[in-house]
Amino acid sequence: MLLDYNSLLLALGVSASCLAVTLGGSWYSRRPETFLLSCSIGLIPIVAGIFTYGAYVDTPTLTLALLTFVLLFAGFSIIWAAGHQFRTRHFSLARVLIGLFAGLAASVPAMLMGYDGLAFMGDNAVIAVLLVLTAREYWLSRHEAPVPLYGITALSSLTAISFVLCSAVLIWDGKMVLGHAPDNWAEDVSLAICIAGMTGIGALSLALHQWRQAARHRVEANTDPLTGLLNRRALFDLYGHRLFGRSMAIVVFDIDRFKSVNDQHGHATGDMVLKVFAEELSIGLRATDTVARLGGEEFALVLDNVLSSKAEQIAERVRAAFAAREIRIDGRPFTCTVSAGIAFGNAEGLGFDSVLSAADKALYSAKRNGRDRVEVAVYLHAVPPEGSRASTDRSVQKQRQ
Ligand code: GH3
Ligand code: MG
Ligand code: MG
Repeated sequence: MLLDYNSLLLALGVSASCLAVTLGGSWYSRRPETFLLSCSIGLIPIVAGIFTYGAYVDTPTLTLALLTFVLLFAGFSIIWAAGHQFRTRHFSLARVLIGLFAGLAASVPAMLMGYDGLAFMGDNAVIAVLLVLTAREYWLSRHEAPVPLYGITALSSLTAISFVLCSAVLIWDGKMVLGHAPDNWAEDVSLAICIAGMTGIGALSLALHQWRQAARHRVEANTDPLTGLLNRRALFDLYGHRLFGRSMAIVVFDIDRFKSVNDQHGHATGDMVLKVFAEELSIGLRATDTVARLGGEEFALVLDNVLSSKAEQIAERVRAAFAAREIRIDGRPFTCTVSAGIAFGNAEGLGFDSVLSAADKALYSAKRNGRDRVEVAVYLHAVPPEGSRASTDRSVQKQRQ
């Protein structure tokens, strides 16, 4: 062999320490990713365990063996808990304790009774199980960032297999008492896999961290922070390039006399009214409907695959529900109303901007006609007024008549 076992152990220990520092550093620069901190903390007992095991290989004493077991089980259990924390955002101390005590139960009694071979069979088997459980956590989160998560799952599983192999070779040899650290081909293979696995998992954890950050930025860029609805930009990204057919509609809502809500009750109450309206707007949506806050107290609802009567009914339901909703400040109830304008696409397909501006016109005519109402824009194709745009809306027309 090019390098002896102890040099490889040293290499593993050094790479694990570097990884602990790198993951800790990444956590420090982006605090919410606590799973990185947990991984980093889990690596500390693993590094200590690797060096203790190195000492045990040279001088096989009971104390060194027991210390190695405690450190490795603690470390791998924390790594498992970190995987669980990545998936659920909750650190489970119970998992750390279960992993630690299961490992100790599987190895310490045998070691104390002098069956060191049996103790190492149990040790390898429990570490393999902890690695499989870790792999499972990342596998269950795979939809979030497929490439790094498949990679972490595969490398954790491969490392687990190498520990199963170590255990299997010990069982095959059948020696309950060794008197020294296990020394067979499976140990060498496992050590090589651990070095590769550790480096790979480290690199992928950082990639995962970047991936999550990028995804979070994408969501933030598309979300209105007050209401949690899509923002104007996201709505334009979704529909800006689409042509609206007859079964697609935009409903634009604008809260009535909202300025006076702010003036009378304060900006915080105004914000609460916006949230309440966003809630009402989001109730009973179908998968094909999209709601967004266009800005200020203006909201849009894009309906796909809807009959015109159904669209009016939906807008009317939102209007009525909001008008009936009692909002309380300091125990005193008050209500607000909203006006809405609806516009549909046409058979040839209308651009998003055209439908939106038609809905806006209908909305302003709803305002002029007394507020707390829904108006529908109608395109008149037959009479192009003075060669200009071949469209106007019914409510504007009504005003002119
Ligand atoms: P109308 O019935 O004609 O729609 O009257 P209005 O008072 O609702 O309309 P106007 O456009 O004059 O007022 C909109 C107000 O919305 C003005 C602005 O201060 C307020 N506003 C815009 N964004 C926010 C916000 O995020 N929070 C709060 N509290 N107020 C906001
Ligand atoms: Mg308004
Ligand atoms: Mg407005």
